[in-house]
Amino acid sequence: MKKIQICTRCILDETVPDIKFDEQGVCNYCKMYERMNVLYPLNKEGKQKLNKLITQIKASGKNKRYDCVVGVSGGRDSSFTLLMAKKFKLRPLAVHVDNGWNTEISVSNIKQVTSRLGVDLYTVVLDWEEFKDLQLAFLKASVPDGEIPTDIAIFGALHRVAAQEGVRYIIEGHNFRTEGNCPRDWTYMDGRYIRSINKRFGSVKLRDYPNLTLLRLLYYVLIKRIKVIRLLEYLPYSQKEITKIVKRELGWREYGEKHYESRYTRFFQGYILPRKFGIDKRKVHLSAQIRSGQITREAALKRIKKPPISEAQAQEDKEYVLKKLGLSEEEFEKILSLPPKSFRDYPTYYSIIRFFRPAIFLACKAQILPMSLYEKYAK
Ligand SMILES: [Zn+2]
Repeated sequence: MKKIQICTRCILDETVPDIKFDEQGVCNYCKMYERMNVLYPLNKEGKQKLNKLITQIKASGKNKRYDCVVGVSGGRDSSFTLLMAKKFKLRPLAVHVDNGWNTEISVSNIKQVTSRLGVDLYTVVLDWEEFKDLQLAFLKASVPDGEIPTDIAIFGALHRVAAQEGVRYIIEGHNFRTEGNCPRDWTYMDGRYIRSINKRFGSVKLRDYPNLTLLRLLYYVLIKRIKVIRLLEYLPYSQKEITKIVKRELGWREYGEKHYESRYTRFFQGYILPRKFGIDKRKVHLSAQIRSGQITREAALKRIKKPPISEAQAQEDKEYVLKKLGLSEEEFEKILSLPPKSFRDYPTYYSIIRFFRPAIFLACKAQILPMSLYEKYAK
């Protein structure tokens, strides 16, 4: 049997479909990291860029109640982002999307963090019947993008609220130094993908769901002139340090691996992705942390040898998820045994995105959208 090749710098390997290695065995994702590092340098130049941005955000919010919208999930990064927004003396409105899967810890974190910082919280509660149907549709479509209904809902809801409030800046907690850029074939998302999966596998029409179609995105970007900023990409980031800060200053509580604030996420990433698709998303996060010097490659390799969640946790989550989605054990096993597919098997905006690559690059360069999006979808 051929041994699978692993990047000599990070721990991404040939289970990533579009991975390429150079003569030194360094992967294209490590190269992407280098490009991002040049764009968001952690030096004087980076600081100047950030100060300029903060000034722009403040100016855009003059005479308004808020000058930015910050997405909060109860996770460490979004809590820290909100804290930093306050430290920079911005006037944020915190927005949370409740998709019905929050863990008790994440709910209490959101309450705790926003009340300690004295920030208004706006919760967008998704219509459960619609959302559940969409999640089931993605499971039936047999694609690894089962988390997209949540991700698009967050992106769409943040834009919707920003437009309603007349706010021009959306601040996200994503950060390439800790999360990395998830390979396109491991997570792909766009509004047309949502529509086509809903049409083919869903049983209800999406009325309330904050989908982000191309037309709507253009409306937000061109008419409402809304920009998406990833604040943490301008700041030095150490997960250990930040955990200490949010615990100490905000009373934040820990809940395990990245993105495990939702029970569905924990089950999807901890059970379905590895078993059905051979995908272990921890490789992406840990690789990013290796590159930014937060963890050694050896420690990361050791960590992924252990399963993402314990067998007992997996069984408990499975029972919970199946019951909540109204799936029998038999139906679920049938879904698991369907041959894996990808976003390339369904109608999406992907060909349009490829065609408009140069325009997307310019939009990212002008900081209308985060450069990570260009790197992931158009590069
Ligand atoms: Zn690499």
